[in-house]
Amino acid sequence: MATCPRCKGHLTDGHRCPRRPAIVALEIAASGVAGGLASLLLLGLFDPHGETQMDALAVSIGALAAIGINRLVRS
Ligand SMILES: [Zn+2]
Repeated sequence: MATCPRCKGHLTDGHRCPRRPAIVALEIAASGVAGGLASLLLLGLFDPHGETQMDALAVSIGALAAIGINRLVRS
């Protein structure tokens, strides 16, 4: 079986190389933003008056979780 010169994968008829690092990085950033927004939304539901001052923490956790999930799904 021939190997692809670019990604070293099996060069089958329908071979497509994995996406470029720049695009992968963009995807990671996008999922991080999406996760951060989602957790901000959730925080708004549970704490509508912003009494806990957890915004930054919740956004960071949401973003990291989304990035982790994205990595798991893609690998
Ligand atoms: Zn390839």
